[in-house]
Amino acid sequence: MKNPGRAPVLFLHGGAGNWDGRRAAGAEAGCREAGMEAWRGLDAGGPALESVCHAVRLLENDPRFNAGRGSVPNRDGDVCMDASVMVSGNCEAGAVAEIRHFPNPVLLARAVMEHSPHVLLFGAGAECFADEHGFDRCDPDDLRGEDEAPDHETVGAVALDMNGRLAAATSTGGRRGSLPGRVGDSPIPGAGVWADRHVAISCTGIGEAILRVALARHVSVLVARGVAVREAAEEAMRELERETGSEAGLIAVTASGAIARVHNAAGMATCVVLDGETHTACLADS
Ligand code: ASP
Repeated sequence: MKNPGRAPVLFLHGGAGNWDGRRAAGAEAGCREAGMEAWRGLDAGGPALESVCHAVRLLENDPRFNAGRGSVPNRDGDVCMDASVMVSGNCEAGAVAEIRHFPNPVLLARAVMEHSPHVLLFGAGAECFADEHGFDRCDPDDLRGEDEAPDHETVGAVALDMNGRLAAATSTGGRRGSLPGRVGDSPIPGAGVWADRHVAISCTGIGEAILRVALARHVSVLVARGVAVREAAEEAMRELERETGSEAGLIAVTASGAIARVHNAAGMATCVVLDGETHTACLADS
């Protein structure tokens, strides 16, 4: 049911990194298209979880982004994707890592959360779970992105729905040339994804750095203590930069509808949908 007292918010990102002008425009367009489509359900009173999964599925299907179709290969030339979802309430979470044969890892992550007692399934076990739950396999060659595509286009979404529920989702093809078996931050609650009753967060950037400082959890702890989300995100990013010297970015939305977009990379493709209006950014300051 629609609760007109609470304005929903949908916020998407298409990755932080060294976007150039032409690709930045394409990434902004991709985020806008996905945002407009996934907004409809939220505007009709649908749950935040549905909306973030819809948005991330569309971004996974868009070969302009390093997630799902368009993923970068690892050192051995293989595509290995990771994804996660998390919802407010009891901090429920689901995630998959090292997915090679399914085009929409975010849907597998959601299935892990909803239909298994576990949080994170990896590799062959995760793919077996996907088979058992009726997901269709695809040819891994259909997932591999263009050879020259950079590896910074992890995708993610956060949302607040009309009933005050928060959700976050993150999906990635990882980092080009990584060692086989490498898992980044994207499928790890507290690192590349977070949602509790205060705030939902999706991160992007150098996964090793994000893991080392538990970037998303750092933001959430500050927000729970009453720090404004923008300040909390800036403080957590300062720590990441100080401790690791690396690049990252994040988007966040709180239970009161406040949003934050913070990164220390050259750009981060984003689109926020408020009242049905889309507002995109990529090379602009956060
Ligand atoms: N965080 C992702 C990873 O390290 C990559 C990215 O966001 O660019 O796997």
